This record gives sequence, C-alpha cells and structure tokens, in this order.
Amino acid sequence: MAGVAQAFAAAPHSGIREMATLASRLPDALRLEAGDPNFATPDHILDGAAQAAAGGFTKYTPSNGFPALRELIAAKLIERNELDATVDSVVVTTGGCGGLFTTLLVLLDPGDEVLVPDPGWANYAPMISVQSATSVGYPLDPARGWDPDLERLEALITPRSKVLIVNSPGNPTGAVYSRETLSALIELAQRHDLWIISDECYDEILFEGEHVSMARLGDPERVISVFTFSKSYAMTGWRVGYATATPDLAEKISKAQEPVVGNASSVSQKAAEVALSGPQDCVAEMRDAYRERRDASIALLDSRGIGYVHPNGAFYVMVDVSAVCGGDSLAFARQLLEEEHVSVVPGSAFGPTGEGFVRVSLSVDPGVLSEALERLAGMLEREA
Ligand code: PLP
Repeated sequence: MAGVAQAFAAAPHSGIREMATLASRLPDALRLEAGDPNFATPDHILDGAAQAAAGGFTKYTPSNGFPALRELIAAKLIERNELDATVDSVVVTTGGCGGLFTTLLVLLDPGDEVLVPDPGWANYAPMISVQSATSVGYPLDPARGWDPDLERLEALITPRSKVLIVNSPGNPTGAVYSRETLSALIELAQRHDLWIISDECYDEILFEGEHVSMARLGDPERVISVFTFSKSYAMTGWRVGYATATPDLAEKISKAQEPVVGNASSVSQKAAEVALSGPQDCVAEMRDAYRERRDASIALLDSRGIGYVHPNGAFYVMVDVSAVCGGDSLAFARQLLEEEHVSVVPGSAFGPTGEGFVRVSLSVDPGVLSEALERLAGMLEREA
C-alpha cells in the first residue's frame, strides 16, 4: 500500500495532545493542559447564531467572509488595534489556525525556513512542515520575561529564511512585548527582507501594560496579522477568526482558503457579527477572571518559593520545575499526572527553550486551579 506523504509523516506530534490523552484515562485528573476557555460562549452570541441558522444563513459564504462581518472586523481593528484596516484588507478565517495555515500557504515554497518562537505554540511547526518548509526556533529568554534574544535570532537567519512569526501576548509564555521589542523585530525583518506573521490571537487578554499590534509600528505591508474569536469571546468550537494584510495579500489568503476550507462556517460568522456588535462586557469579565486566577496562582507559587515567569497576558503560567525535573519536563509532567492526578504541558512541547518549565493553563475553575497548584507544589517539595 502506498505510504502517506513524507512531509506529513515528519510533522511532529503535539505534546499537549499526548498529555490530554494520558489525562483522559484518569477520570478524576485536574486538567490544566488545555488552552480552551472554561467559560460558555455568551448567551447573546448563542441567540444570534440560532436566529441566523433559523433565518437561512446555512449556505456557502464568500471565501473571504460575509461583507457585514468584514466591516465589523475592520472597525474593531481600527478602534481597538489602531490598525489602518479596510473591508478589503480583512479575511474571515477558520479560527486563528486557519488564518495562520492559509497565510503560510500563500507565503511558503518547499525548503523555505520560518522563524518561530521557542518556546512557542506547538502547532506552528507542523503547519510549516506539512508544506515541506522548515521551522527554525528562535530562543526567547525567560530571564527577560521571554523577550526574544535578538542576536541569537539574527544568527539563525539564512538565505532560505522567509517568514518571522511573532506571538504577543504569547502562548505558552504569557509575554506581552513592548513597542521597543516589536520595533526591533520589524527592523530585523526589514534588514533580512522577511515577512512577519503577527499572531495576535490573545490580543484582548491582557493583564498589564498595552497590547501593540505590530503592523501599527511601521512597514505594515510586511505584516500579516492573525486574530481569533476563540479566546476573547470563548468561541473555540465555532472556528472563526480573521487575518488582516494589504488588500492584495488578503485576496491571496482568501484564494488559498477556497481549496482548503471554502469559507468559515456561515452560522459562526453570524455569531461573530453579534460578538463584535453586541455588548463587550463579556470580554472584560473573562479577562478579569483570568487576571484574578493569575494573581492567585502566582501568590501561591510565591508562598511556596516556586519560580515562574510573570505572565502579563494570555492565560498561561510557565512554572519553573528545572530544579527537580532533571532536564526532562515530559517525565516530570507524566509523574505529576500519575502521582498527583494533575495534568500540565511539559515546556519541551513548545521547543527546547521551554525545557525545565511546565505550562499551567488558567482557563479552568479557580478551585481546581488552586488545588492543582497545591499538589504541584507538594510534588516539587517532595522531589527537591
Ligand atoms: N495562536 C496561538 C498562539 C494559540 O494559542 C492558538 C490556540 O490555542 C491559536 C493561534 C489558534 O486558535 P484558534 O484556531 O482556536 O483561533
């Protein structure tokens, strides 16, 4: 029998999925491995979707999305992200995943290299390798709040480098980059003529400081920015997000969607319209809840003398387990699951620089979170 494509066979497995599979065998496990908000999609969005389905919005849509939704997205990008968006510079995508994948499809040739954050979201690497391109991790520095090490990043650039992926607020790091850091990354991309994909899927989950959309800082033609409804509006299952770029590139991303997904779900797009046009308190309420959980978690870690890198956004904490994990955070995470029934993601699942950390998700019930952290602290103390 013919084999599957080499590029697919070579795509790495997700360490998050591995922990999820192991945890699902333990019904009482405290699950801190997922990046899925534990909030329900707000009621007014559900109602809007139900009405849209009943009203016949159940057919194909334009491949770049309903014009009414693109108008609302452009207005959001202008108002909240201070970007120069127009309806023609926006493409509605199947979540952030779809936006990233089709953007890479437009930009990459086989053999091209893509610079991805290390530690970084585990799906970048497989998205790149299935396109017969290569991901090259650029190290983030935990001692500097996971800022990129610019010298080491520059040293990784080769004539094959084509794209630089930047993720702020970051998963798994929780890092929110300053204007200076983002401007330095733009300058570097200009010097080496790289495209920038700015993954801003957590743009509204910010605890301190400001989120700066990269394209606002200069050379917007070089930047494709990717956003999602998944995190801000607790809509992970609806699979709706958006990308914004020059109208020419937006058109190409839309064209790339045609053979891959056709278009984002019609009902989900109508739900997204309600999300943007309806009350926004839900976004602030969920963000405040994540902030409270972040504060309670770091207070608990501080009181037990456990290291972590302070997250300013997204909904994760990278906890330092290097003193006991012996350079093997996967073995540590497995042991924590077996002995304490607590599921976290080993930092190594996000790249070699994540080694020595485990990622704790704040998108769980606060009682579960504190109990899980107590058990983690207990194991760290026992093993020290
Ligand atoms: N980018 C980052 C950094 C993420 O963490 C995620 C989801 O976890 C995504 C993109 C994609 O999200 P979605 O496809 O649900 O919009």
